[in-house]
Amino acid sequence: MGASTAPVPVRLDDSAYHELARSFRGSLVRAGDAPYEERRRIWNGAIDRHPALIAPCTGSADVVAALKWAVETGAPVAVRSGGHSFPGHSVCDGGVVIDLSAMKEVRVDPEARTVRVQAGVLLGELDAATQPFGLAVPSGIVTHTGVAGLTLGGGIGWLSRKYGLSVDQLLSVDLVTAGGDRVTASAVHEPELFWGMRGAGGNFGIVTEFTFRLNPVGPTVLAGPVLWPVEESGRVLRFYRDWIAGVPDELTTIVVHRKAPPLPAIPPELYGRPVVMVIACWAGEVAAGEEVMRPMREFGRPLLDLCRPKPYLAHQAMFDASFPHGWWYYFRGCGLDRLADGAVDTMAEYAARIDSPLSGFPLFQLGGAVARVGEDDTAVGCRGLGHMLNINGIRDTAEGFAEERRWVREFWSALEPYHAGVYVNFLMDEGEQRIRQAYGSRERKLDRLRALKAEWDPGNVFRLNQNIPPAGRKAAGAGGAGQAGGVGQVGPAGQVR
Ligand code: FAD
Repeated sequence: MGASTAPVPVRLDDSAYHELARSFRGSLVRAGDAPYEERRRIWNGAIDRHPALIAPCTGSADVVAALKWAVETGAPVAVRSGGHSFPGHSVCDGGVVIDLSAMKEVRVDPEARTVRVQAGVLLGELDAATQPFGLAVPSGIVTHTGVAGLTLGGGIGWLSRKYGLSVDQLLSVDLVTAGGDRVTASAVHEPELFWGMRGAGGNFGIVTEFTFRLNPVGPTVLAGPVLWPVEESGRVLRFYRDWIAGVPDELTTIVVHRKAPPLPAIPPELYGRPVVMVIACWAGEVAAGEEVMRPMREFGRPLLDLCRPKPYLAHQAMFDASFPHGWWYYFRGCGLDRLADGAVDTMAEYAARIDSPLSGFPLFQLGGAVARVGEDDTAVGCRGLGHMLNINGIRDTAEGFAEERRWVREFWSALEPYHAGVYVNFLMDEGEQRIRQAYGSRERKLDRLRALKAEWDPGNVFRLNQNIPPAGRKAAGAGGAGQAGGVGQVGPAGQVR
């Protein structure tokens, strides 16, 4: 449950603290220190946890120091980069947060078309550094999300069908292992570790720096939403299903059901009206994109058509206002092979029941370059799916949050006959079975990951995540038992199941 808990007293042994402070270059934050309240908060306001110590790292030496100290003291370790984990794995009760959010360096090599990115960089910061060269790493759809967590789980976004997932652009990762060693993993150095980092990365070490391949993008794309009344949802989705069957990979779409938000681009008379939107991003020649988009834009009688040539950077930011820091979020995800009639009807039914003006459900189109990478080439699961749905229950405070959560759960359950896997970065704390589903139906992929975990993190130091138990051990249960113990006195875990 995400309910706010009373402040939890957190103890930290003074001598242990001073021992770390001697070798740590960043400014350590303990309960009672001025920045503590702000620094323990993450993006999801429903998460309310009290770590014993926050270790804001200035570089890989700090990561090594904080991690070794945590292992020696037995403190649970949470790793924070962008702080956007839905279930709040990047903060813990009573343990240590290894916080990489201040590690912000981005170095673009436009000739080689590569970029080196430190772990604290956010998607918008990466795009801002690469777009002046007409280049980009495919990433996610909200600019304040962290590159690190998104990439290590996969990374779905507006360029996925053209160039693949974020993880498919990775050339190497520099990481600190559970044993405190600095390792570079790539196709030639530690290739098996590199395989596992690409989809289950948080389980094997703390990444300090990524090297990505860059791709030509924009700077102009043909992009934006076309809106119909939600009563048209069933018809729009059926037409959409047939239309996308023939569209080129330059086009990636997301269908969103929600109440029209009060944004400047939307006429005030539509504010709060339930709508279904087909949102496009055509990353190719604009005239060709206009032709591809035409049938969808001409379908029925749209309320509004905002699809037009615009800077890629502007399109990347279109959802930012809908997901600010500090609101209360409860999400559930599921993959869908295709848009079966029953799934379409269920979506239409639950769209009509949306209560909160903030809730909704984006349906990501997959295929294209995502599906062209082999299922066994990276640890990412579920590459072959047609769509990934993410049901978002959102309130700006705790008020009404329980009702949103109920709507999300009921909707998700009603879709169960159509579920086909799930994207690991769209999981809450949903248990071992769901983590299995995230790594695909192939049991041997999970076995391979468990063997890798036993090699690189046999003690399961990195367990506050979608946990892969080391071969020979049982699952730790992310966010549950993993939160307990360590240097601090543990309070009620602010879990969001
Ligand atoms: P954090 O909370 O900092 O980290 C999450 C977890 O990742 C950590 O618990 C840890 O296990 C691991 N991790 C983080 N940093 C490191 C590191 N340096 N080394 C090792 N492990 C690390 N996903 C998409 O694919 N596409 C989207 O369009 C998309 N949109 C989103 C929009 C919003 C508003 C939010 C909140 C999430 C979105 N996501 C999307 C999901 C996103 O990919 C995950 O929430 C991801 O974990 C966020 O990464 P982070 O670095 O911000 O999170």
